[in-house]
Amino acid sequence: MIETKTGAAEIIKALKSRGFAAYLVGGCVRDSLLGLRPDEWDITTAAAPEQVTKLFQRTVPTGLDYGTVTVLLPDGQYEVTTFRSDEKYVDGRHPINVRFTDNIHKDLARRDFTINALAYDPETGALIDDFDGQADLKNKVIRSVGDPVERFSEDGLRPVRACRFAAKLGFSIENKTFEAIGKTLEIVKKVAAERLHDELVKLLGAEKPSIGLELMRRSGLLKIILPELEDGYGVEQPPQFHKYDVYRHGLFACDAAPRNDPSLRLAVLLHDIGKPACKVDFTFYNHDQTGAATAESLMRRLKFGNADIERVKNLVANHMFDYSAEWSDSAVRRFLRRIGGVGNAADLFVLRRADAEAMIKVNNGEYLVELQKRIDRIIEEEHALHVIDLKVNGNDVMTILKIKPGPKVGQVLNDLLEKVLDDPKLNDRDKLFEMIKAHA
Ligand code: ATP
Ligand code: MG
Repeated sequence: MIETKTGAAEIIKALKSRGFAAYLVGGCVRDSLLGLRPDEWDITTAAAPEQVTKLFQRTVPTGLDYGTVTVLLPDGQYEVTTFRSDEKYVDGRHPINVRFTDNIHKDLARRDFTINALAYDPETGALIDDFDGQADLKNKVIRSVGDPVERFSEDGLRPVRACRFAAKLGFSIENKTFEAIGKTLEIVKKVAAERLHDELVKLLGAEKPSIGLELMRRSGLLKIILPELEDGYGVEQPPQFHKYDVYRHGLFACDAAPRNDPSLRLAVLLHDIGKPACKVDFTFYNHDQTGAATAESLMRRLKFGNADIERVKNLVANHMFDYSAEWSDSAVRRFLRRIGGVGNAADLFVLRRADAEAMIKVNNGEYLVELQKRIDRIIEEEHALHVIDLKVNGNDVMTILKIKPGPKVGQVLNDLLEKVLDDPKLNDRDKLFEMIKAHA
């Protein structure tokens, strides 16, 4: 029994009451059976897109050519896709013949992996499993629906997805499916960069992206998609600090960064991307600057947005700072300016901690805690209020208390400042007037 999100159950009920077969399908069924919480609830139905559009009040024609309508309900959005059987793929990218069908079995047969080809009817509790997806879920295996070489030749994104799901779920790729990747690499080259981008971002959200990236390297995909990363393979580093080559160091550092922030994770993955080109013996002079340029070019190729590119470039370019307790406050301020502001300091420290996780431990990161404290103090000082920031001044104090200039004026203002520092809401003329009167 799959506990179905309310909106998805309502949509299926509405479709079925009009005589259209409808099921939950794909990722949400797979994840539910694994005890994971799905982030999207996709629905597949015999109803044509126009019929789906007619049936629900608020819809968006997300991908009408492919039969997808997004239905908007109070508790979320749902993609509702008409049963399809995609026959011929001419270019490894798009099915030329998107054929709608009223047969759920044909729809499941066009899907990529057995674990993604499960359909569930929340009303009856029936699970349609034409390709032994449940057994593969149990055995933690990713297996193509049908012949993998054929299926990968139809769409070159599927091999990348296989690696992405292996990382996301901690599964292995079944042998024949894995071998098929190496045989269909030419097709991967035709895949639109936007689609690779989306898979890469999803891979960066896996617990251990390194699993997917290593599968990509072993199968030959990495050379096509991220050759810059593969360049670090076998590039040795000074043994007193490093136990991994540049490639593995990047992968394991990436795993150690928080998974809820894909562009930060990408920065961690790419922080040493300049090393292979800069290596002279065991030194990598200027690899931070070279790396920033390499990161930018590969991110442009993979259609990342400007904000992500700037963020990653900046982190890669600045990851080599070293702090010492002798730094003056001005040095700390210069550091903050160089890295583009306080906001970036937190990111940079995350990068450095993740970087250290993938090295031989030479310190416990205490220096980052100390530097953070100094930054916090400097910020606090800069933001701290001074008497001049009060909404009243000495004249107000003298008028209200009917006193002449003298030390009492300053004492009152300092007292007001103390109170306002405790509670900034008190910095209001009426409130301050009342507080001044209390000094009479
Ligand atoms: P996630 O939870 O990571 O989004 P998902 O399984 O929902 O995983 P989607 O990319 O959202 O993955 O695709 C939804 C479903 O559509 C898949 O489960 C699969 O059945 C089918 N699908 C998606 N992409 C392809 C593809 N390139 N080839 C064949 N089937 C695909
Ligand atoms: Mg999905």
